[in-house]
Amino acid sequence: MKRIGVLTSGGDSPGMNAAIRAVVRKAIYHNLEVFGVFGGYSGLIAGNIKKLELGSVGDIIHRGGTMLYSARCEEFKTKEGQQKGIEQLKTKGIDGLVVIGGDGSYHGARALSEQGYPCIGIPGTIDNDIAGTQYTIGFDTAVNTVIDAVDKIRDTATSHERTFIIEVMGRNAGDIALWAGLAGGAETIIIPEEKYNMDEIAERLIKGHERGKRHSIIMVAEGVTTGMEFAKELEEATNFDTRVSVLGHMQRGGSPSAFDRVLASRFGSRAVELLLEGKGGRAVGIENNVVVDHDLNEILSTKHTVDLGIYKLSKELSI
Ligand code: ADP
Repeated sequence: MKRIGVLTSGGDSPGMNAAIRAVVRKAIYHNLEVFGVFGGYSGLIAGNIKKLELGSVGDIIHRGGTMLYSARCEEFKTKEGQQKGIEQLKTKGIDGLVVIGGDGSYHGARALSEQGYPCIGIPGTIDNDIAGTQYTIGFDTAVNTVIDAVDKIRDTATSHERTFIIEVMGRNAGDIALWAGLAGGAETIIIPEEKYNMDEIAERLIKGHERGKRHSIIMVAEGVTTGMEFAKELEEATNFDTRVSVLGHMQRGGSPSAFDRVLASRFGSRAVELLLEGKGGRAVGIENNVVVDHDLNEILSTKHTVDLGIYKLSKELSI
């Protein structure tokens, strides 16, 4: 292994830049040459590949987004597209590739690995919805962004005695809603992994109101329903004055938290080590504060699970 490549793909997340920086610096530390693929798998097929130096990744550790840009690319789901990608890498003498992204990007990395081209996946998504790791890069920052918004909404909710419904991202995973809900002191958290009972929610809200609570915050994961739909249901059940906040893409941006920067640095470093060890078709992760790696087949056939212990705790603490 003399030359490696790195790309970011799918939805971006804060901390991807810190991961790119770690891959580049670790590779150069080990006397490898590093190439950045710009624009995800689309850029790979088009050969949008440039050499990166130590200085190319200077001053990015604190920036959200990805300096390599990201893209979605239908062509890469085909064998022809994947072959074009491998050709581009081989033409430049690049022997292995680090792919930073989510589930979809991992499918691409596995496809290349199955065709004999070594790829290592780094979990980069705010959704925390990837198996084989307790945390993905960007999740912690997204949760902090959400609680910052919740704290502000709470101020106005108290002044006006209102029930606020906050819709957060997470695709089919409830992790962002759950963590931000617990950290933000939400009364109710609605996640795809657990069914909700509107009568029970209404009863709790009414009881809280009767004992003098001036506001309620309900966190709804986008994987369950929209904030607007949920508000309609709740208003029918309670007659409470509700307001809806959809936080949207602000959750994907911003300067990465210290946790995400450290996580990204550790993942980037391990990904390069794996390529140096001659391994491909694997993804890095973190379990009990130890950086681990698993076969991409195993990761892609295992469903991510949310921590239901936290869900139970949030219920106990919001009585
Ligand atoms: P994420 O990586 O954030 O989950 P996507 O699901 O959009 O984002 O996937 C990103 C890209 O990965 C897609 O645009 C496509 O180029 C590639 N990809 C997704 N699924 C596959 C697949 N089954 N085989 C090969 N490449 C895939």
